[in-house]
Amino acid sequence: MPEKVVIIGSGPAGWAAAIYAARANLNPLVYEGTIKPEMIPLGQLAFTTEVENYPGFPAGDVNAFVMTAVDKKRHYNLPGPPAGHVRDDRPHYAVQGVELMELMKQQALNFDTRVVSEDIVDVDFDTQPFRLTAGNGDSVETHTVIVATGARANYLGLPSEEEYKNKGVSACAVCDGALPIYRSKPLAVIGGGDSAVEEATYLANLKDAATIYLIHRRDELRASKIMQQRAFDNPKIEMVWNHTVKEVLGDGNLVTSLQLQNTVDDSTRELEVGGMFVAIGHTPNTDFLKGKLEMNKKGYVQWTTAQRSYTSVKGVFAAGDVADDYYRQAITAAGTGCMAALDAERYLAAQGI
Ligand code: NAP
Repeated sequence: MPEKVVIIGSGPAGWAAAIYAARANLNPLVYEGTIKPEMIPLGQLAFTTEVENYPGFPAGDVNAFVMTAVDKKRHYNLPGPPAGHVRDDRPHYAVQGVELMELMKQQALNFDTRVVSEDIVDVDFDTQPFRLTAGNGDSVETHTVIVATGARANYLGLPSEEEYKNKGVSACAVCDGALPIYRSKPLAVIGGGDSAVEEATYLANLKDAATIYLIHRRDELRASKIMQQRAFDNPKIEMVWNHTVKEVLGDGNLVTSLQLQNTVDDSTRELEVGGMFVAIGHTPNTDFLKGKLEMNKKGYVQWTTAQRSYTSVKGVFAAGDVADDYYRQAITAAGTGCMAALDAERYLAAQGI
């Protein structure tokens, strides 16, 4: 018997879709992916520390809730409260990225969602039911598919950058910039697009912000003119033109400076910063869908109808960052995951399945 709904991906979009599909008695099957350096199951939030902007999770004694809610078998995956985080004005800690994702997964499991820890590496949307092939060679037939494979932040690719991820290197200032490790320190944002300018402006507007260096490899920003002006007008933002990052330097625990290289004369210099935010674009996880679904020129799955999760193939729906290079938030991904499950449910009902 073909599946009714197969969900590919295990970030907020995937689990939200699973929760809704399971509660509609569609018995969803989730391919959550395998562990790999750039994308582990549970999506990009698994790379984040505290999540302070997901509604419903204010700072509190989150740990007690997480430990009781998540199956004991997966407690090994939970980070627990961050060391030294207790402060007088905020005695408890906000939910950690992995904790939030484990809670979402648990919620889906509680409604009997089935999970396979494999990637889908090939799809055949020409036949009905569709056929999906997993990395281990197994295949599955299904009447509908929800693609929720997300996107991954691009990094510079330096080993020292890898070493300091979550210790002063981040790809999301809006997620991480207000964390104590960055507070009141000079910080660097890398990139010249709208994201880089937005991240620099966000950091510069935080209470007690120090200098925010916007480091770009050319002498002209790619960002829209209005965003550029916002950066130039902000007294806390200092432009560092014609430079790339050659090395991230630190004391083993946290970032302390960057070694920069001038792209014009190759000279190098050290810039003291307490953190580096990389904003050089994202790559959607759509390699396995090339030629199978309509995509935009950046490789994101194209939603074909406003306010719907429809794709160019009837019965295939997309949710979250894999189809959204604009909002890219956990809450918007979860919202579109819910939409995709409702769209799949209605599609199946219309087909009499
Ligand atoms: P983007 O427009 O592709 O810009 C990426 C930037 O990173 C470019 O300036 C690029 O430099 C630089 N870069 C790329 N690889 C690099 C490397 N290896 N080393 C150093 N620098 C590198 O990406 P984005 O800023 O994330 O924006 C993505 C989309 O979202 C855009 O369409 C943007 O308009 C939109 N967006 C809109 C808003 C808003 O309207 N509020 C906010 C954020 C994003 P070069 O310029 O030299 O190529």
